[in-house]
Amino acid sequence: DLREAVASWTGPGRTADDVAVKVCANVADGASSASAAQAPVEGVGLFRTELCFLDRAEEPSVEEQAELYAAALRPFADGRYVVVRTLDAGSDKPVAFATHEGEENPALGVRGLRLSFDNPGLLDRQLDAIALAAERTGTETWVMAPMVATVAEAADFADAVRRRGLKAGVMIEIPAAALMAHRMLEVVDFLSIGTNDLTQYTMAADRMASDLAHLTDPWQPAVLQLVAITAEAGRRAGKPVGVCGEAAADPLLACVLAGLGIGSLSMAAAAVRAVGARLGTATLDRCEDAAEAALAGADPAAARAAALAVLDD
Ligand code: PEP
Ligand code: MG
Repeated sequence: DLREAVASWTGPGRTADDVAVKVCANVADGASSASAAQAPVEGVGLFRTELCFLDRAEEPSVEEQAELYAAALRPFADGRYVVVRTLDAGSDKPVAFATHEGEENPALGVRGLRLSFDNPGLLDRQLDAIALAAERTGTETWVMAPMVATVAEAADFADAVRRRGLKAGVMIEIPAAALMAHRMLEVVDFLSIGTNDLTQYTMAADRMASDLAHLTDPWQPAVLQLVAITAEAGRRAGKPVGVCGEAAADPLLACVLAGLGIGSLSMAAAAVRAVGARLGTATLDRCEDAAEAALAGADPAAARAAALAVLDD
C-alpha cells in the first residue's frame, strides 16, 4: 500500500514510466544538510544561507562564511549537488547586518538580490566565500539569487557567479520574472521557482497572514500558469527548471509540477519519501493530463479535485 511505498522509497525520483524528476532537500546550515544527506535525495535544491545569520549583528568574514557554507556542502560531496542561494535578507527573514530598516513595505522593498544594488561588496564577499567552500569540499555547487525581477539583474548576477567558475541561476519568485523566463534563460544556466513568494506576489497576499491562506495557496490556477510558462521556457532552452517552494512537498501537486515540465523538486527532507513514492505511481502522460486539468480549474479546490480525478483514476 501507499504507506509502505512511502517508507521504503529509496529514490531517485522517477515517474511510473521512468522519467527522471529529481527529488532534493531544502537545508538551512551544516546540521540540517548532514541530516538531509541521509535521506534518499539527489542533492540540495535550496540552501537558504540567510538562515545562518539570523542571530548575527555583524557580517561574518569571508573565511567564516566559507566554513559555514562548506559545512553545508560537504555532506553532498559524494557526487551530489547543492544549490546555494545568496542572502535572502529582508521582509520575513530579517538579517541585522543586511536588512534595510524602517521600510513601509518590506516585502516590496530592498530585499534579496536588491540588497546588492547599494552594497555590492556584500554579494561579492558572499560569492567569494561560496567559491572557497565549493573548492574546499569538491561538491558540485550551483548558485542562485532570490527576488530577481529583471533580466538585467539576472545577467549581472550570472556574470559575478561565473567569474568564480560556478553555475549561475535565479529564483522565479516575482510574476515579472516568470513572464520573462525565456529571456532569463538566455543569461543564466538554470531557474528555480520559489512558489511561496511567487504565490504571495501573484495573489498580492502576505504569505505570513493566516487569514489570507485561501489566497496564498500554490494550487491557485494563476500561480500554476506562471509555473507552466517558466517550465515551458526551460524546455525550449534545454535548461533545468526546478521548484523549491512548499508546493514541491505536496505529493499531488508534485505530480502536477512534473506534468508541467518541472525537472526537479526540492522540499523539507521530511517530505521527500511521500513525494518520491507518489511520483512513482503516475506516468508522465498522466501527470501532464493532471496538469492540464488543474490549469483549467477556476480555483484551488477545483484545480486539486481535477488533478486528483486524473491521477487516482
Ligand atoms: C519561496 O519563496 O518559495 C522560497 C523557496 O524561498 P523562501 O521560502 O525562503 O522565501
Ligand atoms: Mg522566497
